[in-house]
Amino acid sequence: MDRLAFVLALALGAAAAAAPRRATQRPTWPAITLEHLSTHERFVLRPDPGGHLGARRLRGLTRFLRCHHTGQIHAIAARLPAVLYAVAHHFGDRAVEVIAGYRAPRIAREKGNPKSHHKEGRACDFRIDGVPLPTLRDYLRRSFGGIGVGYYPNAGFVHVDVGRKKRGFWTDYSSPGEKARYTEDPPADERPNRADEPSLPGPPAQAPTDERHEGQDEQD
Ligand SMILES: [Zn+2]
Repeated sequence: MDRLAFVLALALGAAAAAAPRRATQRPTWPAITLEHLSTHERFVLRPDPGGHLGARRLRGLTRFLRCHHTGQIHAIAARLPAVLYAVAHHFGDRAVEVIAGYRAPRIAREKGNPKSHHKEGRACDFRIDGVPLPTLRDYLRRSFGGIGVGYYPNAGFVHVDVGRKKRGFWTDYSSPGEKARYTEDPPADERPNRADEPSLPGPPAQAPTDERHEGQDEQD
């Protein structure tokens, strides 16, 4: 793999591994800070010189991403911090503001989404200071395979989950504390910027049941 870092290869998939890198271009892997907006704790992602975010580098991450409602700790999928790192690195190594990581099953049920990827330690709700949400959403959607990307324009974050066979994208117009509120026209939301038009959000719609929205997720 030459000097290609494992962390980005893991996050971006095989396509990245094939990308040529000039011999003079030495990869550097700056530390990236995760800031949890509920607990106000910080966790620094600091890849080793080879770009690995191995177990030693991730020690403490399970605690940092614990369910902030119950304090419960759960294993976190290795690809999740790799994706967060890759995204933050792409946007100039800005801090990642975490809204929610792991969510205890009871909390997932109470929020109306018992199948939440959060309760498996495979999802994170976040934003990046200074990066518009649509920009963040679009970058996630076009850059990574096997992920789910939820866009929460009124709650002010994006959701990403890892470990899917098929990608899943959705938009949820709920405000903080509200139940999920989906558009009446889900396919239209897939058009770039459609979800950002001022006419939305429209009237509350039934939560869609089609497969595309299998990964629907309550905002936190
Ligand atoms: Zn989420």
